[in-house]
Amino acid sequence: MPVSGLPPYDPSNVFARILRGEIPANRVFENEWALAFHDIAPQAPVHVLVIPKGAYVSFADFSAGASEAELAGFFRAVGAVAKSLGLEAPGYRMLANMGPDALQEVPHFHVHLFAGRSLGRMLA
Ligand code: AMP
Repeated sequence: MPVSGLPPYDPSNVFARILRGEIPANRVFENEWALAFHDIAPQAPVHVLVIPKGAYVSFADFSAGASEAELAGFFRAVGAVAKSLGLEAPGYRMLANMGPDALQEVPHFHVHLFAGRSLGRMLA
């Protein structure tokens, strides 16, 4: 079910619950700014989600509302996750869905990392 990428933030969303430890996730990275875990329904051999620790609905919300430290910390974490998973040499794709036309489903900003095979052109 697509969601709006606009505030208000719903603290009952599934990624907020993962951040609070209320439901499990197959975690691969965590620091002060970000948490990364495997997608529950992978669409590539490697499909990892990276989410900020702060309560942001979408990229629109995060890019407008996050502090410089949060922005830098999050995007450095995305790069660190990809590097730690050995994705830099073969390559990977980053993707963030924002709002209904992009079919965003979870209203907590997240970046998808896809890798592990040739990923084809940008849009299906
Ligand atoms: P999006 O359409 O960009 O909002 O993508 C949401 C992603 O979250 C989808 O790829 C789902 O498979 C994934 N997802 C939903 N619930 C979970 C969960 N509990 N653990 C891991 N990934 C999840």
